[in-house]
Amino acid sequence: MEQPSAYLERLRPAGGKRSSKRDLIVNVFLRQEGHLSADDLVEIIKKEDQKISRATVYRTLQWMVDAEIARKVDFGEGRFRFEHAYRHPRHFHLICKTCNRSFEFLSSDIEVLIDEVAAARQFATSQSVLQIYGTCDECKTGREPTDSAATTELLFARDALRIAIATERSGMAFYARAASMTRDARGRRVFKRLADEEREHLTRLEARYKELLAEDSQLEARPTFLFFKGAANGLFAAGAEKLAKGVDAKQALMIGIKCERGSHKFFKRYGERFEDSEGKQIFLEFADEEREHLELLIREYRALAKRPGSKRTAARRPSRRSRRASA
Ligand SMILES: [Zn+2]
Ligand SMILES: [Zn+2]
Repeated sequence: MEQPSAYLERLRPAGGKRSSKRDLIVNVFLRQEGHLSADDLVEIIKKEDQKISRATVYRTLQWMVDAEIARKVDFGEGRFRFEHAYRHPRHFHLICKTCNRSFEFLSSDIEVLIDEVAAARQFATSQSVLQIYGTCDECKTGREPTDSAATTELLFARDALRIAIATERSGMAFYARAASMTRDARGRRVFKRLADEEREHLTRLEARYKELLAEDSQLEARPTFLFFKGAANGLFAAGAEKLAKGVDAKQALMIGIKCERGSHKFFKRYGERFEDSEGKQIFLEFADEEREHLELLIREYRALAKRPGSKRTAARRPSRRSRRASA
């Protein structure tokens, strides 16, 4: 994972000279989660170094906004707040009018809609802000607020992994089913191989998920950050349903191709939209794996289409398989 210092080096604007005061302010700011007012930051900085003036903090905040290290957010309180942009994807906010806390979430469905509206109106979007005002669950119920130690990046990675795992699981079920019902031996082997691969990927993703949970004991229970109306696992579930109707190897391959293509597109499209973060990486890596599966299925589909009399092959292959199995 990139270190904040490397990130700062990369973002330093041309001609931006080193200033130890500025570096201190930036480093302190990057350690904060949530949405700070300039005065909040002044207070925190004063604890670190009494000699840094309010004006210096204000100036540095503006510099960070210009360098895209910080984002300015306006929650309608008559003053701006600032959040860091380091491995912190753009997001929307739920804002509680009772306790003034804000909660972040991301919905690619909403982003896609905004793009659609803007495109229909030939509007060049530079920034879109979505803020939902109301009363948070804790204020409503009087429940103890959960500590907000989790970083958005961690929540984002957790949700990206959950989506990838769910997709992997339904993909595995799809291929296992396709393998069990395909009579063509070669088709069956392909499906078995893919089911095995999905199982292996699943094991890897689950290990990564466990590692993530080790970073924060309450991570599982924290509210959802990343929302999708229809994630890619729905594709495989629909594919499995189609298999149940009884299909031959060619049709099964075609259904698999459709599922993998949809899944690849989903993870690539959204992965590319996210800003640099572990969640983005998870999406893009997953998109690559799905593309490999897609290519394999297409190759098999073509080979099968070319094969003359696939019935004969189907009859011969199982005996070879059973010989190998008994060897
Ligand atoms: Zn509240
Ligand atoms: Zn925020």
